[in-house]
Amino acid sequence: MSKKILFLPGDGIGPEVCAEVEKIINWLNQNLNTNIETEEALIGGISTDQYGKPLTDETIELAKAADAVLLGAVGGPKWEALDISVRPEKGLLGIRKALDLFANLRPAITFKELVHSSTLKEEVISDLDIMIVRELTGGIYFGEPRGVETKNGKKYGFNTLAYSEDEVLRVARVAFDIATKRNGKLCSVDKANVLEATEMWRDIVTDLHSKNYKEVELSHMYVDNASMQLVRNPKQFDVIVTTNMFGDILSDTAAMLTGSLGMLPSASLGEVQENGKQHALYEPVHGSAPDIAGQNKANPLATILSFEMMLRYSFSLSDIADKLNKAVKNVLAAGHRTVDIQEKDSNVVSTSDMGDLVIDELSKI
Ligand code: NAD
Repeated sequence: MSKKILFLPGDGIGPEVCAEVEKIINWLNQNLNTNIETEEALIGGISTDQYGKPLTDETIELAKAADAVLLGAVGGPKWEALDISVRPEKGLLGIRKALDLFANLRPAITFKELVHSSTLKEEVISDLDIMIVRELTGGIYFGEPRGVETKNGKKYGFNTLAYSEDEVLRVARVAFDIATKRNGKLCSVDKANVLEATEMWRDIVTDLHSKNYKEVELSHMYVDNASMQLVRNPKQFDVIVTTNMFGDILSDTAAMLTGSLGMLPSASLGEVQENGKQHALYEPVHGSAPDIAGQNKANPLATILSFEMMLRYSFSLSDIADKLNKAVKNVLAAGHRTVDIQEKDSNVVSTSDMGDLVIDELSKI
């Protein structure tokens, strides 16, 4: 059965890194009969240029109809002075909301070959493989009331941290399911000693664990401790699940353990619907890198690894995902590097060379 991917290359280096995934898909279709179809639509600044807004209804409909979406990046200096309602980043928030992508998966994996790119000691991060599951559509970033008012001549700013039971349950289920398929350990991160909404979060996760996921080893940790533990001994974790804001911060810390922005993939998943379909959007963690856009210098591996996650989570093609992962590792082991991960004695390659090298390795596996 064929699968359809909607490509949203976006701005800056987005189109360059997405093009490398297109090449890989063509190779997979020709050699491994994957039967993956692709189509393309606009998002971000390029959409604002063409249609006056960063996300159109047409793009949303195409994304809903696709089996998965691959996004490059949005934004750049050209659009920074625009009103916030038509800035490229609004397109990204808009598509996440339109597809109700409530679970953001951010793996932090250290590639053996790049262990020296991290600022941490080799023994702390070698063989690191953790997954952070961040709640993405609720919590303090969306809670009402919010705003800044003036009271008695002084400014007063406020935001609301609010979660419903269903919002906690659905993201916790995703995290437990992932832990079940990995090493069976889940750490739920909250601030239950101070924030009632996260005390409720802890109770709901504990209850779900005792009812449905007893085989998973569940622990709880306060967010301040979790931030220390991630740097002190990250390998103690397997899967972490947490709120939107805590996940935003912790996933960036975890990302930097691995040392390179150009290597970090992500997935955002929606609810499994009655017909079995699940909206899902895959994207590199990095932005549009305007400083190197159009120069064939960007590292496409974060986007290629995001596609690997798509093969695993949306298409259940783990064998092909494993092959692709192996191909990436082989390319790194052979010493090929884009400029961002360049090391002494490495062979510096362009964006398109890197894509070709991954395909060469795929054909040898
Ligand atoms: P950035 O991630 O675009 O770039 C930060 C630095 O990392 C730059 O020096 C860049 O050259 C480098 N870099 C990033 N990705 C790389 C890659 N694949 N290969 C090699 N080098 C890479 O972050 P920024 O500079 O803060 O933001 C630039 C624009 O991107 C802004 O408009 C911002 O709003 C937007 N942005 C978009 C997303 C997204 O689309 N998801 C995320 C972050 C930032």
